[in-house]
Amino acid sequence: MTIQPLKGQKALVTGASSGIGAGVAIALGQAGADVVVNYAGNVAGTVPVIAAIEAAGGRAMAIQADVSDEQQVEAMFDRMIGQWGAIDILVNNAGLQQDAAFHDMTLAQWNKVINVNLTGMFLCSRRATREMMKRGVQPEVSSAAGKIICMSSVHEVIPWAGHVNYAASKGGVKLFMQSLAQEVAPQKIRVNSIGPGAIATPINRPAWETPEALAKLLELIPYGRVGQPDDIGKVAVWLSSDASDYINGQTIFACGGMTLYPEFADGG
Ligand code: NAD
Repeated sequence: MTIQPLKGQKALVTGASSGIGAGVAIALGQAGADVVVNYAGNVAGTVPVIAAIEAAGGRAMAIQADVSDEQQVEAMFDRMIGQWGAIDILVNNAGLQQDAAFHDMTLAQWNKVINVNLTGMFLCSRRATREMMKRGVQPEVSSAAGKIICMSSVHEVIPWAGHVNYAASKGGVKLFMQSLAQEVAPQKIRVNSIGPGAIATPINRPAWETPEALAKLLELIPYGRVGQPDDIGKVAVWLSSDASDYINGQTIFACGGMTLYPEFADGG
C-alpha cells in the first residue's frame, strides 16, 4: 500500500503549469493532497498535471491568476475556499527572470521580477495565513494549522551578476520567509523555503540544452547532475508533511552542492 502523508490536505501551488511547480503539484497529489494548479496563461500545461494528480486519487483544479495582482489572487483563494473549504499547504512557486546588464536594466524589468517573485508571495501568503488562522489546527489533518513553502533559489545566498533583479527578489524571499515564520509560529503555521540549484526547466533551458552549456553548468554542481522537478517535489512533500513538524523558518537547499563553493573543491 502506498503511504500518502498528505491525505485529506488541500494545497495550492502557484505557477504549476510547467517546470518545478508542475513537479511539486504532481508530487503533492501523489502524496494524497488535493491540489489547486495555478497558472498565469498556459492552461494547456495544467492538463497533464491535473491528470497525474487525479490518477493518484486526488482532486485537482486549475485556476488562472497573476500572483502579482491582488484581485486575481483574492478571487483564486475565494474559489478554492468556496469549493474545498480550506487551505492546508501553499507553495509560492511562481517566478521569472528578466535578465539584463545592470546599467541597461529597465524599471519595467526590475518591477516585473520583484512583483511576481516577491509581491506575489506576499499576496498569496497573506490570504493563506488568514485562512489558516481562521481554521486553526485540525489534529486529524495535521499537527500544524498550515504550511507555507516559498520557492527561493541558491541565489538567496549566491550573488548573480547580470541578474540583479532576480537575486534581489530571492534575497528578499529569504527574510520574507524567516520573518513570516517567526510571526505566525504561535498560530502553528510553518513557513519554510526550498532553494533549488540548477533544475532543468524552461526558465534556464539555455544553461543545459547543449552539451557545451551542460558541461559548464556541471562545473558548478559537485554532485555531478542537473536537478529535475521531482527532486524539488520530494522536498516539498516532506516540508508539507508532519515528518518536518519541527522545521520552521529554514531554507532547504536542493542543489547538488552548488552552495558549497565548488571552485574551492581542489584546494582553492
Ligand atoms: P518555469 O518558467 O517553468 O516556471 C515558472 C512558472 O511561474 C511558470 O509556470 C509561469 O507561468 C509562472 N508564472 C510566471 N509569472 C506568473 C504570474 N505573474 N502569476 C502566476 N504564475 C506566473 O521555471 P521554473 O524553473 O519551474 O521556476 C519555478 C520557480 O523555481 C521560480 O520561482 C524560480 O525562480 C525557482 N527556481 C528555479 C530554478 C531552476 O533551476 N529551474 C532554480 C532556482 C529557483
